[in-house]
Amino acid sequence: MSALEKLYEGKAKILYKGPKPGTLIQYFKDDATAFNAQKKGTFANKGLLNNYISEVIMGYLEKIGIPTHLIERIDDRQQLIRQVEIIPLEIIVRNIAAGSICTRLGLTEGDPLPRPLIEFCYKEDALNDPLIAEEHIVTFGWATEDELATIFELTQRINDFLCGLFAAIGIQLVDFKLEYGRREQDGDIHVILADEISPDNCRLWDIKTGEKMDKDRFRRDLGGETEAYTEVARRLGITIATENT
Ligand code: UDP
Repeated sequence: MSALEKLYEGKAKILYKGPKPGTLIQYFKDDATAFNAQKKGTFANKGLLNNYISEVIMGYLEKIGIPTHLIERIDDRQQLIRQVEIIPLEIIVRNIAAGSICTRLGLTEGDPLPRPLIEFCYKEDALNDPLIAEEHIVTFGWATEDELATIFELTQRINDFLCGLFAAIGIQLVDFKLEYGRREQDGDIHVILADEISPDNCRLWDIKTGEKMDKDRFRRDLGGETEAYTEVARRLGITIATENT
């Protein structure tokens, strides 16, 4: 295959020009960052595991009618995706208190929240992705009222579905982050799910032991990152038949 044209390199992924207009190739790296890239590292097979895990989860979401950017996984490291204009929001869904909300509001990690909570951050590394209110989103034109309504509806459905999916494999879905994008189709603009869903952007706790099976192992120097991501993949029924694993 001829060299791919790199369009963008992020902290964990690289985007290349796709084979057809309106498509991109998303490449998953082993690089890990935390605390807005102040902590950097890498762990074996992270990209490969996230690629497979995100493929399976987005595949399930498509089956329940959630539009996503995923077209297909190409190989161990790459996915063919639909090109979107990323909406500059990080949508955080929380079922149980953990991470930044604990420090911000004085909650204890592990406390169940009275109901699922959706928070928004403005996706801007230079500002450290600040927490924002819904009002900011429409006021500054980051999304329209209609797009925001769609984002709420899709996000609630995704949370309901993923809580059940993970509970069935003995994992508690504590919180996660979503990103959406705009895509033009038949003259209309649609909001579709973008980015990835993986242990990089979810907090996943083993229901029986409470053990962390996500990027907090890296953030908090707990070790065993590859083993934890591999176990999430295994419980999702993913078998990776490559010599890389
Ligand atoms: N998250 C993410 N990217 C970010 C910020 C958060 O994927 O830039 C995910 C994170 O993995 C967790 C959830 O969103 O599952 C909530 O993160 P939180 O706000 O608690 O921030 P953190 O404690 O990770 O800094």
